[in-house]
This record gives sequence, C-alpha cells and structure tokens, in this order.
Amino acid sequence: MQFGTPDGVVRAVDGVDFDLRADETLALVGESGCGKSVTALALARLVAGPGLRTSGRVELDGHDMAALSEHELRSVRGGTIAYVFQDPASSLNPVKTVGSQIGEMVRLHRRVPDVQAEVVALMQMVGLPDPANRYRAFPHEFSGGMQQRVMIAMALASQPRVLVADEPTTALDVTIQAQIFDLLAALRRRLHMGILLITHNLGLVRANAERVCVMYAGQIVESGPTERLLSHPGHPYTKGLLASVPRVGRTGRMPGIEGQVPHPARLPTGCRFHPRCKWADDRCRLEAPDLDEADEGQSVRCHYWKQLT
Ligand code: SF4
Repeated sequence: MQFGTPDGVVRAVDGVDFDLRADETLALVGESGCGKSVTALALARLVAGPGLRTSGRVELDGHDMAALSEHELRSVRGGTIAYVFQDPASSLNPVKTVGSQIGEMVRLHRRVPDVQAEVVALMQMVGLPDPANRYRAFPHEFSGGMQQRVMIAMALASQPRVLVADEPTTALDVTIQAQIFDLLAALRRRLHMGILLITHNLGLVRANAERVCVMYAGQIVESGPTERLLSHPGHPYTKGLLASVPRVGRTGRMPGIEGQVPHPARLPTGCRFHPRCKWADDRCRLEAPDLDEADEGQSVRCHYWKQLT
C-alpha cells in the first residue's frame, strides 16, 4: 500500500506475506507506524484514498478481494471478515441501545426469524450479564470491558471467518484484558475463526497467539511459531524488542533500541533497520535482505541471522 503525501510517496506496507488459518491466532507485532493497522485494513480494502494498492493479492476464504465489486465487498466486510478496534466508547453510538446496535449488524448480514432473540444469544455468548434486560441499555451504562464485549458481539453477528482484533484491550486494565482474551480464545474455538491480533505487546502475543509476524518500517522482518520466535529471535529488531520488555527483578537502565523508526517517505537504503542495528555493515547499507527461511517454520529478513543466533 502506498500514499501520496506532500513529503513524497509513502510505502506504508511493502513485503508483507502471511496466511491465517481457521482456529488460529496470528499476531502482527511492531512499533506504532510500522504498518500493522494499514495491513489489517487493506485485507478488506478499507484503506481510504489517497491510499493505493499498487501490487499484491489478498485472498479471503477463496475470494480474490481485488476482484470483488463494491456490492460484494459490502457483504464480505463485517461478514466474512469483522473488526474489533481499541476504543469501544468511540465506536458505539451513544444514543442507540446496545441491543439495537447489535441487531443492526444481525439484520445486515443474516436472515434470522427473531432478531431480538439472536441479539440476546450473542450478548450471552460474549458474557454480558442479564442480556434480556441489558438489551435496552445504552453504551454509557456499561464499563469499558463490557463495551468491548458489545463490540465483539457486533463483530460476531455475521459469524465471520476472520476476526481482526486491532489493539482490542489497549484502553482496558489488565484484569479486563485477560477476560477479553479468554473470551476471544473461547469464541475462536467455538466458531473456528482465524484471529489476526494487532498489538505492540509481546506479553499478549506470548499468551494468545500461535504464530507471530514482526513488522518494521512496512515489512515483515521475522515470522514464525510464537514460542520458537520468542525463545530464538533471529532478527536484531526482534532481539531488541524482547530485550526491552520490563521484567520483575530487573535493575539498572532498561535496554532499548537506539535511534528512531524511519519516516516512511525517507526509508533507508538496503536493510531498513540498518541505521539502528549495531551489526550493520556496508552490505546492509546497500543490499536489501530477503525473508530467509530459518528453522522450525521461522523466517528472518537479515543478511546475518545465522551468525547472530
Ligand atoms: Fe542488521 Fe544488517 Fe541484519 Fe539489517 S541485514 S538487521 S542491518 S545485520
């Protein structure tokens, strides 16, 4: 995906290739601005102008997304693929009851004999208490965690094959965060959905995703099974991310990754990570590395990953 801006053409996502299986959670991880959310929106052609897809292909449940008409896209968006975003309070309509908002999604995507009964069943499925009465409540009558459950019920109203959860618990405290992830895991198993989890939190990735893709400056720089990747990181950026996770008992200055994420309109030559990498040499500055297959399903975009492991 690229964007025309006053600073020049910005290639926000470039070199991103992954598959998501049914009943699996795949995490996209990286710092703000690395292209995670643009990738997620591009799956359903939701990136607004001036965003432009210049190449690549998205296949969703057998559909080539680029070949769908606007009419067909409308049934896929919120139907085959549904989204849950980070701030439920700003996504819900404050002047409509939660029941009517979930009901709208049911009507939009499915034909059911009794919409209200379906809404109550969805509210029950996501663990909203007393759904038969709370159906008529307004969003402000719910806590942040309960509002996110309403958003999940709306996303599930279409029985999606893919659920994109974009930082779904960032606005919530840790106890509620754990409850929401337990809920998503249970629903995933029950509905055989694939979940694409967008996050910058490696703790959430470890606890909730089977596979992970690490993004940097619009590219996937490392991917693989979560346990393998987190215990044997191959890319210097992944190593830096893991080294900067706070740990109980750690003393002294927290190690970080020196330098700044590059501006997408002024990406470095060669390896995009080279200005921040302590192992960079002339080859890194000139030659862009490919994503190489490593061991046990892991892939790494670095010329020297073998020497660095
Ligand atoms: Fe660092 Fe070079 Fe590997 Fe890039 S290719 S991550 S600069 S060692």
